[in-house]
Amino acid sequence: METFGHVIDGEERESGATFDSVDPYTQETWATVALGGAAEADLAVTAARRAFDEGPWPRMGFAERGALILRFADLLESHIDELAMADTRDMGKPISDARGKDVPRAAQNFRFFADHARLAMAETLPMDTGHHAYTRYEPAGVVAAVAPWNFPLMLESWKVAPALAWGNTVVLKPAEDTPASATIMARLALEAGIPPGVLNVLHGYGPDSAGSALTEDPRVDRITFTGESGTGRVITAAAARNLTPVSLELGGKGANLVFADANLDDAVDWSIKAIFTNAGQVCLAGSRLYVERPVLDEFLSRFVAAAERLVIGDPKDPGTQLGPLASEEHWRKVTGYLDNPAGKVLTGGPGEGWVVRPTVVVDAPKDSPIQCEEIFGPVVTVTPFDTEAEAVREANDSPYGLNAMIFTENLSRAHRVAARLRAGTIWTNCFFIRDLRAPFGGFADSGWGREGGTFSREFFTEPKAVVMAIRQ
Ligand code: NAD
Repeated sequence: METFGHVIDGEERESGATFDSVDPYTQETWATVALGGAAEADLAVTAARRAFDEGPWPRMGFAERGALILRFADLLESHIDELAMADTRDMGKPISDARGKDVPRAAQNFRFFADHARLAMAETLPMDTGHHAYTRYEPAGVVAAVAPWNFPLMLESWKVAPALAWGNTVVLKPAEDTPASATIMARLALEAGIPPGVLNVLHGYGPDSAGSALTEDPRVDRITFTGESGTGRVITAAAARNLTPVSLELGGKGANLVFADANLDDAVDWSIKAIFTNAGQVCLAGSRLYVERPVLDEFLSRFVAAAERLVIGDPKDPGTQLGPLASEEHWRKVTGYLDNPAGKVLTGGPGEGWVVRPTVVVDAPKDSPIQCEEIFGPVVTVTPFDTEAEAVREANDSPYGLNAMIFTENLSRAHRVAARLRAGTIWTNCFFIRDLRAPFGGFADSGWGREGGTFSREFFTEPKAVVMAIRQ
């Protein structure tokens, strides 16, 4: 049995209490984790506050801080097996994804933001009045980062990397289902030479526990949250009491539009990835497929065949493409949508253990839960459309607006539809391709604000204007 503690002020610590991390494939406890509450949240924020107010980190130059972050990124890469296996055991993610995508991407996030901060320019504004003004981007202070369980290490790094690169200190609360990789990451930050108190990890649950204590603490200067839209509302209410700025990356119900002129090989291939990667436990999942009627039958027969070819099994096996869902509770939620589904299930349904097989549903009524709600599992609805205007209207008919996909070979249509879709990221003839400089976030119930490149700088710094008189 492995054990994972909080990492506070440079030390790995126990609490009196613990909780278990269950491997969703074996359904056995594989790790014991320190269970934090208000007392540990207080210690973690105190440590981060002291490291920010008195420590060297915010006062270091970008090059010196960047060098430590780059060393940290190297250590993440050299511990790829340990980190990847931690996420796989915690939540059932196929090891090929954890090793091949998530850990390398986490290291890339740290490298990118270290370089981005070091190379960033600031504005100088010559004024007509015999003055000039210039901008300083100063670290905001103590950042509370609250993370979900679907891409544990990768999404944590997406928050921690820009926060650290801009000179902030951090208290990270990983999701209770996926605690292990965060502790390993914090151990490696210390090994890299990042000073104690700069990156703290606090384990525990959300409501009435570590999560709420952290986000209600008035000593926190920024809250960056990724998770469910409902939790985002609760955290925003807590932040409002302290006027703490919040960045929210929330749920989604991605629309995926396949036009009759699309390259169908590409459309099928990307649409499969868009909904079945990580067993559909992806905020960006293309869970609402809309297909133009003339190619509906052809698309569906190829799509169903490709869904049935996916290799289901032990996520620790490098050949597995789809593992179990992250927990029994989540499996119950997802299979609940399939108990009496509105619509016809062409393939899929519950599998062995906590597996849900790739599931394709047609004829789901427009207002049915399976069509409207974020299922967060390998379940996709397929709906025909007849015109471009109808496709855009259907895609936008959702409380969410995180992302959408367009498959077409018509250049003007691609641009036209991209402009009309109300979502934070539009992928044309692809999916999940990211440029870390681009804004990332959602419209409406999918979030508040954007992160990525200079958008992260806006959030994790306090921009300051300095106005100077130039004596003539
Ligand atoms: P969740 O909201 O249940 O939990 C996320 C985190 O918030 C966990 O660490 C949890 O402990 C904590 N938390 C819960 N209640 C809290 C409270 N009252 N105060 C403080 N912290 C609290 O979400 P989840 O189930 O872990 O993740 C799945 C959700 O995340 C889905 O809706 C998915 O779409 C979304 N998500 C969004 C993005 C994005 O970038 N937009 C990325 C990944 C996941």
